[in-house]
Amino acid sequence: MSLTDGFGRKIDYLRLSVTDRCDFRCIYCMDEAPVFLPRAEVLTLEELQQIAQAFTELGVRKIRLTGGEPLVKSDLVSLVANIAKLPGLDDLCMTTNGSRLTKFAQPLAEAGLMRLNISLDTLDPQRFEATTRNGKLERVLAGIDAAQAAGFKRVKLNAVAIKGNNDDEIVDLVHYAREQGVDITFIEEMPLGVLNTDRRDHSLLTSDEVKAQLETAFNLIGTNENTGGPARYYRMDDSDIRIGFISPHSHNFCGDCNRVRVTTTGELLLCLGNENSVDLRLILRKYPNDIERLKQVIVDAMGAKPEKHHFSTGAETQILRFMSHTGG
Ligand code: SAM
Ligand code: SF4
Repeated sequence: MSLTDGFGRKIDYLRLSVTDRCDFRCIYCMDEAPVFLPRAEVLTLEELQQIAQAFTELGVRKIRLTGGEPLVKSDLVSLVANIAKLPGLDDLCMTTNGSRLTKFAQPLAEAGLMRLNISLDTLDPQRFEATTRNGKLERVLAGIDAAQAAGFKRVKLNAVAIKGNNDDEIVDLVHYAREQGVDITFIEEMPLGVLNTDRRDHSLLTSDEVKAQLETAFNLIGTNENTGGPARYYRMDDSDIRIGFISPHSHNFCGDCNRVRVTTTGELLLCLGNENSVDLRLILRKYPNDIERLKQVIVDAMGAKPEKHHFSTGAETQILRFMSHTGG
């Protein structure tokens, strides 16, 4: 069985948000004092596992666990171990802020997690603390080392590029990635969630601007490599790492979209940039353990996947969900 949407796109990638909670408060992702969901509204580990099972039985080959911060969810390692056992999965990965990897990298590797994306926007400790509103850079750098020591292959860093925040560190971040032997992807900030700031008016740094900066220091060579996500990749002839760009504003990637998201509350979101969704939690709680019914609801939902997102550049918030709820 496979999932195909109304535009003929095959859906084989699920991004599954395991919690809306986080130990950081990144300026582009959350309010300083966010209101987290009541626990009863958040999917349980069993419900998350059933969703993963239903999607893999429907032909999904790649699952990314995200959040919020996945590693603040208790017993996450056991969820990873259970999902890793599902037949048909080629790629099980996680996006994390890295703050708890010194503790969890090894157990996650042993549980069967295959790849890690670690968010890192700056190498300056004060700026890191200001961007995350409390994070400690040294813990994340130690977490990156721990991921490498645990044997994860092709660790990838994610940096949200923001004018006036880290636009003077783009080249330094790539130097760090080269030294570590890890890939790095620069992400354009998306207008998700209403922030108590008008910063987004003037802070968009496009992938083309980031790339132009990098070209002053490195010889970038375009590739057709695809890791199953929305990034476009470049390489350099004097390093093995890849530099990726995720450009929802400047290079719309909807045409070959292969993914859907399930939020912390079990909404099946057919597109990051649209509000339409289907409530899977309702099915899970009304018909416990009825995987076939869950699969049918997912199959039926595919017809509602929109053709593309409608983010415009600039500050305007079109989507009221924060990334931490949606699952980045
Ligand atoms: N807490 C984990 C982390 O930070 O990696 C996983 C969840 S986080 C929401 C996933 C990714 O989304 C991170 O790389 C983060 O930088 C990115 N992100 C959050 N808000 C964003 C926004 N408004 N625009 C673009 N990327 C965003
Ligand atoms: Fe937390 Fe990740 Fe959002 Fe930062 S980007 S607040 S680490 S969920």
